[in-house]
Amino acid sequence: MKDAAHEKIQTAYRILVEGLGELGYSIHDDNFRDTGRRAANAFLELVRGVDEIDREVEELVARSFSAQYDEMVISKHNVCFGVCPHHLLPVIYRVSVAYLPSEKVLGISKLSRLARLLSKRPVLQEQLTQDLAEVLYSRLQSRGAAVYAEGLHLCMAARGTEAHEARVVTSAVRGVFRDQPATRQEFLDLVTAPPLSLL
Ligand SMILES: [Zn+2]
Repeated sequence: MKDAAHEKIQTAYRILVEGLGELGYSIHDDNFRDTGRRAANAFLELVRGVDEIDREVEELVARSFSAQYDEMVISKHNVCFGVCPHHLLPVIYRVSVAYLPSEKVLGISKLSRLARLLSKRPVLQEQLTQDLAEVLYSRLQSRGAAVYAEGLHLCMAARGTEAHEARVVTSAVRGVFRDQPATRQEFLDLVTAPPLSLL
C-alpha cells in the first residue's frame, strides 16, 4: 500500500517538474534528476498512512499506566509538522495539550508523540485539535482534556504580502476543561505564556 502511494506521489512530482520545464527552467540539469523520488520521500514524512497512525495511537494509549496523580498534566509548545488538505503545503504547528487523569496516566513524552503523530495527516487544523482532545479524553478515559494549537500555514504565509506572520489559532476542550471555566483559563494562561528562554 505504501509502495503504491510512493509510486503515485513520485509520478505526480515528476509531472510537476515537467511543469517547471514549461516555465522555462532547465529541468534536465543534475539538480532535478532525482527530484521526483526525493520529493515523494519528503512528502511521505509529512503525511503518514491512516492505518499506521491508528495503530500507533492504539499502542500509545495501551502503554498508559495507573498512578495516583490527578492534577493537570500539560505538554506545551510541541513543534509538529503536517500539510494542509487544501494546498498540500506544509504547516508548522505549535501544539499544547493537557489532560486531567482519572486512573490512566500517559508518559509525558507520549503526549508530544501523540501530537506529532496526529499532525502527520492532511487534515484541517480544527480537525487535528479536536482529534487530539478526543484521544486524550475518550480513549484515555480522563476527566478532561484541552488542546491549544497555533499553525503557520505556508499556503497563507508564503503567498500574498499580508499573511507572513499570520497564525491560525484553534482550541478544543472536553470534560472538566469544558465545564469549569477556571480550569480552562488556567490551561490557556499556562500555554499562551511565552516559553522559557534557555539560551
Ligand atoms: Zn492550505
